[in-house]
Amino acid sequence: MRRDFVANVSHEIRTPLTVMSGFIETLQSLPLQPQERDHYLGLMEVQALRMQDLVNDLLILSQLEGNSLPSTNDAVDLPSMMSTIESEARGLSAAQREEGEPEHVIEIVVPQGLKLLGAAKELHSAISNLVNNAVRYTPAGGQITATWDVLPDQRIQLSVVDTGPGIASEHLPRLTERFYRVDRSRSRESGGTGLGLAIVKHVMQRHGGELKIESELGKGSKFSLIFP
Ligand code: ADP
Repeated sequence: MRRDFVANVSHEIRTPLTVMSGFIETLQSLPLQPQERDHYLGLMEVQALRMQDLVNDLLILSQLEGNSLPSTNDAVDLPSMMSTIESEARGLSAAQREEGEPEHVIEIVVPQGLKLLGAAKELHSAISNLVNNAVRYTPAGGQITATWDVLPDQRIQLSVVDTGPGIASEHLPRLTERFYRVDRSRSRESGGTGLGLAIVKHVMQRHGGELKIESELGKGSKFSLIFP
């Protein structure tokens, strides 16, 4: 497992690195106009950001593995966390929208005053991964709804529902594996590291909760977090 993981990480880093080296060579060897140079620098920036995202996610994962279980004494205020996550999602949606495309409809439903015992940073990471994935994989104009509910047995549930492409059932059991992607190029184009759902699964295990994934091709997806 460790060998596979190292091979995967090396591959993930090598791809943007190769692209970037190519651009550096171009800049060094061709007499470019300022406009062309800016174009190449922009493309290099995209690759550098990709490596940065990857390293950030790897660090989050290694912290989750290394640290002791989160204190459950922290009461995290969900409405305020959700409002931060909502603005991040709107920013991401605006950044990925092409000119002339309709906006995503993003709706957040959270009962006033709802609090959850757990580690704020980890919970933020898990929830924003789900909401951001919904934005990244749902085409322009689609709808994303994140709803918090208190279940009849007093457990707390977050459901993130999107009207995106959905996921074929054979992929569902593997989605939380590190670097498992249904569509590699779509994941990369939208800035994916392939580690998001692995992080979500880890955070949920550490909080004694579970991640549930329901999806149907062409009908969108529903990712739920259930906390004890
Ligand atoms: P990535 O960085 O590639 O998005 P994740 O671990 O977050 O990695 O997700 C793993 C894969 O699950 C994605 O590559 C994508 O194929 C699929 N996926 C995740 N969320 C959604 C969604 N809301 N709609 C469709 N596919 C999704």
